[in-house]
Amino acid sequence: MPTVAELTGLYGNFMTGPRPGPEVCSLCFNFTDGFPRCYACTHGESWLDVVAPISYSVAREQLHHALAGYKRLTGEVARRLQVELAAVLWRYLAEHERCITRAAGSDGFELVTTVPSSDRDRDEAHPLRRIVGELCGPTRERHERLLKRSAAPAPEREFRTDKFELVRPLSVRSILLIDDTWTTGATAQSAAATLRRGGASHVAAVVIGRHLNREWHHNDRRLRSIPRPFDWRRCAVHDGSAAR
Ligand SMILES: [Zn+2]
Ligand SMILES: [Zn+2]
Repeated sequence: MPTVAELTGLYGNFMTGPRPGPEVCSLCFNFTDGFPRCYACTHGESWLDVVAPISYSVAREQLHHALAGYKRLTGEVARRLQVELAAVLWRYLAEHERCITRAAGSDGFELVTTVPSSDRDRDEAHPLRRIVGELCGPTRERHERLLKRSAAPAPEREFRTDKFELVRPLSVRSILLIDDTWTTGATAQSAAATLRRGGASHVAAVVIGRHLNREWHHNDRRLRSIPRPFDWRRCAVHDGSAAR
């Protein structure tokens, strides 16, 4: 059995860890032109205490392919990607969950759940739940499916407080949400809104990839300014506080 370090070795060569800064959104780590928040985070609702992206996911580059492939492909290739992405999440949480807990003002996340797919059919057997609920050591004991897609109509990338509903009434106050990709944040924020309205007082999100286009504006220069290889000892959150 390969170790977590072995499974993530290759990923360290192409992952790019977000860092806070004057041209970085203080919530989702998108690059900005000097504004404290990016367009989507300024104009959308925020129900999350903390958003912690493990890496940027640059369109059409390696991490983007892995994050698309683990759920679109089938068979051995998909299973291997799921194991690798679970190892990425494992290694990151083992090192940094306490940073996220602290930034969220929580004593510890009692439950870990995933952001459901906006697509009801796809959500029925989503491989992200296998990653979080079976493969990833730091989360599997605490994982529970808490959210499902509601019957309300909701376009894929639109924030809606009624997009998701609780599977059961909440009995815990502090919940860690996991998603594969953050683009506008509308889906994760919709999930967080349902958890908070259901009684959760602390909700933080860990996302594996914060989606970016390299061609957009100065993104290429900014991505290149982040040191390589990926440093597992650092995270976006303990380099500065990402709070709403
Ligand atoms: Zn943002
Ligand atoms: Zn950290």
